Amino acid sequence: LIQLYMPLHFLGFVYREIRHSLADMERMFGLLAQNTEVSDRPDARDLHIRGGEIRFEHVGFGYDDRRMVLQDVSFDVPSGHKVAVVGASGAGKSTLSRLIFRFYDATTGRILIDGQDIRDVTQKSLRRAIGIVPQDTVLFNDTIYYNIAYGQPDATREEIIEAARSAHIHEFVETLPDKYDTLVGERGLKLSGGEKQRVAIARTLLKNPPILVFDEATSALDSRTEKAIQAELQEIATNHTTLVIAHRLSTIMDADQILVMEHGQIVERGTHGELLAQGGAYAHMWALQQQEQQEEEEKLKAVGV
Ligand code: ATP
Repeated sequence: LIQLYMPLHFLGFVYREIRHSLADMERMFGLLAQNTEVSDRPDARDLHIRGGEIRFEHVGFGYDDRRMVLQDVSFDVPSGHKVAVVGASGAGKSTLSRLIFRFYDATTGRILIDGQDIRDVTQKSLRRAIGIVPQDTVLFNDTIYYNIAYGQPDATREEIIEAARSAHIHEFVETLPDKYDTLVGERGLKLSGGEKQRVAIARTLLKNPPILVFDEATSALDSRTEKAIQAELQEIATNHTTLVIAHRLSTIMDADQILVMEHGQIVERGTHGELLAQGGAYAHMWALQQQEQQEEEEKLKAVGV
């Protein structure tokens, strides 16, 4: 019997290992599902990061050949600077972040990081250098802990909690019965858009990459949480090259440069003050948002909040 037990025990072990690997592969493919378009060149080198400068040179892009969603986009985010992109829904803002992370390749023109065309470097080294907080974060069907630690297997529990604190999600996690062991995602606790985004921010803070791309949620955060996170992001952005895709202009007034996009093109660029003085599209958007904010405040006052 003993002779039978050992091989069976071994087979059981192999079976569990395979199941585990399959679960990991499922996760991996889930993550890479949107990423079948690009592959490393045979001679791809690792990205060599110096300051993390991002440069778009005459970039054109279409998800399909019949419709270009970006046209002749050129801009520069010098190392350590913060550039914000604003514009109407569908103008092409999030597409910029997808191209930087190389979910797709530019149709025309090129994107450089520290002078290196991102098509010439390994995707692994590129993605290591960039922390992206997307508008819609998809969480893994796993614990909150796993979701924050993802990609940083060596992180300690203290580091994970510290990142969660900075992303203003720790207090919320502490209120859950299983705390950091709470299962989230499709098969677990459903988090709100804002909570998911904060988990993504914590993951990015833990990774601490030289380049940050923050795709602001349209309406996922309440204004108090948003202010707190903005303050935090402002602090971490200090030593990083940061590209912020913004919906609320109040969050990017301090940017070194603001790009205004319309129909896939940059139509204005400058600081908040310069753009207001120009009296163009940005000034118009600003006036509208100020008016909306005022109306909102008056409504709240009327109901005694
Ligand atoms: P929003 O402010 O609403 O997030 P945006 O400026 O970020 O908008 P993008 O998401 O970059 O806009 O989209 C630009 C254009 O590309 C839109 O017309 C959109 O319909 C189209 N688009 C976006 N994603 C895809 C996709 N995966 N496949 C095909 N078309 C897409």
